[in-house]
Amino acid sequence: MIGERIELTAENIYDLHYPTYCPRRLFYRFYGWEEGPSGPFEQLIFELAQRHEVCHLNSTGEYTDLSSGGLRERAAITIDLIEKGTPFIYQGVLSSTLIVEGRAVQAWGIPDLLVHKGPCWVIRDCKLTRKVSEEKHPEIKAQLQFYGFLFERSIREKPGKLEVFLGDGSMVDFPYDDGRSATESLKEIISTVTAKEAPYSPVNWSKCQGCGFHQLCWEEARARGDVSLLYGVDQNLALALRENGTSTVDQLLANWDESSLSKLSRPWGSSSRKVGKEASRILLQAKAMKDKRNIPLARVKLPESPNFVGFDLEGFPPYLNQIERVYLWGTKVYGENPSPYRPSLSPIEEDGDLKGWKKFLSICEEIFAKYGDIPFIHWAPYETSKIKLYRRRYGDPEGIAERVLGNLVDLLPLARRAIVLAEPSYSLKVVERVAGFKRSQDEYGGDWSMAKYFQAVETQDKSLRKEIFTQILRYNEEDLDATWAVFQWLRGQNEAHRGSKLGCSSSVPPA
Ligand code: SF4
Repeated sequence: MIGERIELTAENIYDLHYPTYCPRRLFYRFYGWEEGPSGPFEQLIFELAQRHEVCHLNSTGEYTDLSSGGLRERAAITIDLIEKGTPFIYQGVLSSTLIVEGRAVQAWGIPDLLVHKGPCWVIRDCKLTRKVSEEKHPEIKAQLQFYGFLFERSIREKPGKLEVFLGDGSMVDFPYDDGRSATESLKEIISTVTAKEAPYSPVNWSKCQGCGFHQLCWEEARARGDVSLLYGVDQNLALALRENGTSTVDQLLANWDESSLSKLSRPWGSSSRKVGKEASRILLQAKAMKDKRNIPLARVKLPESPNFVGFDLEGFPPYLNQIERVYLWGTKVYGENPSPYRPSLSPIEEDGDLKGWKKFLSICEEIFAKYGDIPFIHWAPYETSKIKLYRRRYGDPEGIAERVLGNLVDLLPLARRAIVLAEPSYSLKVVERVAGFKRSQDEYGGDWSMAKYFQAVETQDKSLRKEIFTQILRYNEEDLDATWAVFQWLRGQNEAHRGSKLGCSSSVPPA
């Protein structure tokens, strides 16, 4: 039975894949479920993407703008303009009626540009990303193939080429695959949106960050004790467990032991991988979550020193800037002889990036002069990788960066070795809460800080800029205070461990 006609658009492909693959998000958006407001970072990405598109559009010279009006009317005009050989059509509408999986479908697509080049037509999209591949941004190729398919069906001619204009100004092209990918996309979308209820998709700390359905999915997952809440259980493992009849934390503990779990395979890139040694840790995470109680594991070797530098950076990924960039280098000394907060905020000027790096090195030089070799405590590997990047980029003639590198202490792996948290993540924001640290700002986070910094760069209002910088600096200083609080909490864990002689973690590998 064909049934009622379903309207699909290339946006459905985007909903399925961006920012990460999730059929549940596609289902919710298709049926218009209420979505939480997008955060400042999502708004920033949206604005930058629009700016990138306008910039490219202006560089093409004259174009015919079809960006407004009803879809049917625009689709008719698009065909007319193509038949007339109009060189640049902006936001033309392609459409086709077809049967997919026995269902009548009206499919729509709005490519950024239809370009008449020589004897053939090129379909082009503008995207902020700098890389496009099956692993990174599969939605970009899938959407272009979808447009190609609609173009062929409505014009009766294959597109000559599919192109994407990337954030770094390069143009990448690939051939039209005669509708193969589009047919696959259509089948997956139809089977998702015609399901009786929202399909299962594992929750995941990084996957769900910034998603408008976060609260809905996480409340549901917590209520049923979903196995994907466990730290160390990635999405493929959650799905593999589910296929084996285990969808909750309770079932995991009831049905699996270290030996059986270690033998379970889940997809891993193009092959598969057994859970192996991670099994014991996952079962401990499950026990902690079930009992709602952290499990101390072992004393960990923490650096000993009368003073410590709290160290934290804020930066942009390369797709948001011309280069991968740190805009704030934060330091503050804690311990017997503390110092005030010493930030190096890159000035908003042409060589601001270099100036920010130089100022950071001079702050570190002063710290070393006053305290000698002193541990720089930080959270996760970002700080290490960025110092190495800047050392390559601008050099380190005095050897200060080298000395900082030699004194870095990443607390994240130490925390994982010290304690099994009854939490789904070991991000600083989670661990600081466990350590009892409280922030003063309601809004904060790396993405929030990035969006704010961009706002400060854009505004001509000096007092607003100053106010934004004050907020960013307070956030960064509180990251340092939180790192110090977690360090002291870890010391406390060590003491408690010494007192109670809790079991050794030697058989438990770090997560
Ligand atoms: S919150 Fe997570 S699981 Fe839910 S729709 Fe968003 S990405 Fe998918």
